[in-house]
Amino acid sequence: MEVMKNAQMKEYSNMKVGGIAKELIFVEEKNELKEIIDTRKNIFILGNGTNTLIYDGNLDISFVSLKKLQKISVEEKNKNFDLVRVESGLDLDDLIKFMEENNYTGLENITGIPGSVGGLVNMNGGAYGTEIFDCIEEVEVCKNDGKIEKIKTKDLHFKYRTTEIKENRWIVISALFKFKFGFDHAASEDKREQRKVKHPLDLPNLGSTFKNPKGKFAARLISDAGLKGYQVGGARISEKHPNFVTNVGNATFNDVISVIEHVKEVVFEKFNIELNTEIIILK
Ligand SMILES: Cc1cc2nc3c(=O)[nH]c(=O)nc-3n(C[C@H](O)[C@H](O)[C@H](O)COP(=O)(O)OP(=O)(O)OC[C@H]3O[C@@H](n4cnc5c(N)ncnc54)[C@H](O)[C@@H]3O)c2cc1C
Repeated sequence: MEVMKNAQMKEYSNMKVGGIAKELIFVEEKNELKEIIDTRKNIFILGNGTNTLIYDGNLDISFVSLKKLQKISVEEKNKNFDLVRVESGLDLDDLIKFMEENNYTGLENITGIPGSVGGLVNMNGGAYGTEIFDCIEEVEVCKNDGKIEKIKTKDLHFKYRTTEIKENRWIVISALFKFKFGFDHAASEDKREQRKVKHPLDLPNLGSTFKNPKGKFAARLISDAGLKGYQVGGARISEKHPNFVTNVGNATFNDVISVIEHVKEVVFEKFNIELNTEIIILK
């Protein structure tokens, strides 16, 4: 493993907010995880940092990155589908490219989510009616005692934007995908284009800040509450997509938190609806 002391975590969060961490460990081999768990008290697994707001003071945390684990291997070939194991450090974008090259279908709708496979599996990420678990047969996790286990999807609890893995703080090492054939290039490109049009991709952000309440859209509630463009310091509610908080220049952790708290209060006052954050807030 490679250990970086006093890491500048700002560089590892897509929001470009974050302080100095005790250490950032890059895992090179999955069996190193047990040693890390046994020798550290406060661990946080970091993927691509596209959903994590990191406190900007001193962080007494050992951040652990699986970015070096990116292998893709076809484990089984069948007439109608293949079983493909993908390590958690791979970017979703690279998995989509691999699917296109191999004519695999199933995840075209989530094209363009900037997370890692591990991050997406942890929270059952998704878009346009597709969730990553739609194509997963089995996950390989490291549990809190350092034991590595393979769990069949049918034996795992997961629902909208959460999983048993997230609730128990297990570590995703790999996922076994079941891919049928027939990559839909048009659908994949369409979703990528829609993201360019709808999301403020020119500014640092963490995607959707709040989960959609049942039957409602958080973005619509925020817009109807008149909060588009609401700003504290360098943190601003995007006009393009009001469920995104953007960093318009040197936003601090507290700027972002203030915006989040204000949105929650106003939406609750106006519509009696409680918004819950989808992003991870790490302090
Ligand atoms: C522009 C933009 C658009 C987005 N659009 C979408 C969207 O359409 N749908 C959607 O669902 N999300 C979306 N997101 C949010 C984000 O990309 C996803 O939540 C993604 O799954 C996060 O992956 P990550 O690797 O960046 O995770 P991180 O932000 O690094 O981590 C997020 C959480 O996952 C945990 N984690 C990361 N890796 C692992 C692992 N290997 N094992 C266990 N836990 C792990 C972390 O501990 C943390 O709790 C968007 C974000 C951005 C910036």
